[in-house]
Amino acid sequence: SKQLHKDQLEAHELLAKFYHHLLMNTKEGQHALEYMLQRGFTEDQLKQFRIGWALPSWDFTSELLKKRGFDLSSMEQAGLIIKRDNGSYFDRFRERIMFPVENDRGQIVAFSGRIIDAEKDEPKYLNSPETPLFQKNRILFNYHRARGAIRREQSAVLFEGFADVISSNEWAANGIATMGTSLSAQHISLIKKLTSQVILCYDGDQAGYEAAFKAAKEISSSGLNVKVALLPNGLDPDDYIQKKGGQAFKQEIIDSSVSEMAFKMHYYRSKNNLSTEDGRLSYIKSILKEIASLKGAIDKEFYIKQLSDEFNLSVEGLSNQLGSLMPTEQ
Ligand code: ATP
Ligand code: MN
Ligand code: MN
Ligand code: MN
Repeated sequence: SKQLHKDQLEAHELLAKFYHHLLMNTKEGQHALEYMLQRGFTEDQLKQFRIGWALPSWDFTSELLKKRGFDLSSMEQAGLIIKRDNGSYFDRFRERIMFPVENDRGQIVAFSGRIIDAEKDEPKYLNSPETPLFQKNRILFNYHRARGAIRREQSAVLFEGFADVISSNEWAANGIATMGTSLSAQHISLIKKLTSQVILCYDGDQAGYEAAFKAAKEISSSGLNVKVALLPNGLDPDDYIQKKGGQAFKQEIIDSSVSEMAFKMHYYRSKNNLSTEDGRLSYIKSILKEIASLKGAIDKEFYIKQLSDEFNLSVEGLSNQLGSLMPTEQ
């Protein structure tokens, strides 16, 4: 029979309340609150997403859970505390800004904790481990809250990070994010339940381009339409919003997102030096390969024409080359 893990859900709910209170209203959380406000988050955003603060303590959480009568081995299974060899428990999340993670019913099933000083020799974000309640490849951050907006707008905006979802929320309430993992088939089917259009909005760095390239392929081959939003080099969506504002983000980034092929052209341009002959050749070959994998004849013709214009090459020559790249009919 399927266990409900009711106590584990209750514990997450209780802790989220405590962490949030610590961040918003206490001297212990003041430094963290100042950090978040100085980054540009508003108190409303912190309240809406129930952001919190876990104290720099080894046993605040485990003692609280014990005092409230929770079964500690169940709390360990939920990933909230960790068992020592001697049988005692210590807190997994210490001295971190706490982002509650909800399932598709709005129940908190995990946390992600960010350290304030990203220079420290520790992971910047620490997630709950995989537990019965939390499987990273089945959870999209903010899915529950964004569901209505995704349906209304008939599109979902997919980000890399929590910060991106939160700061864009007022301008793109249809924003969701994976949790530091790549996009899974289950993530895609969660989106598919609501819309057939995804706008990828990953970080404007090499890692973001690579991830978007991969995700775009997976989304489009699952039958969904994909568009890609292009961020200026070195900025992620949150950085962009803090710098230029939400309205510019909506207009210049989200509403200006481009087709998968246009993004690929951009991607291969960033990998090749087009001022050299070798770079241009390698770029043209990469794009021809991508065109060969397109399904529609009109799409193929359209991009062949574009390449031909851009590099002053004949459509015939490019088409012949394309023919040799096509999979041979069996
Ligand atoms: P911030 O703006 O707070 O620095 P970010 O979202 O821009 O955060 P990135 O480094 O771009 O951070 O990472 C994107 C996402 O990947 C994060 O939001 C988080 O979900 C995940 N992530 C990053 N670092 C880690 C890590 N060390 N362990 C697990 N997940 C991580
Ligand atoms: Mn990044
Ligand atoms: Mn980022
Ligand atoms: Mn960021």
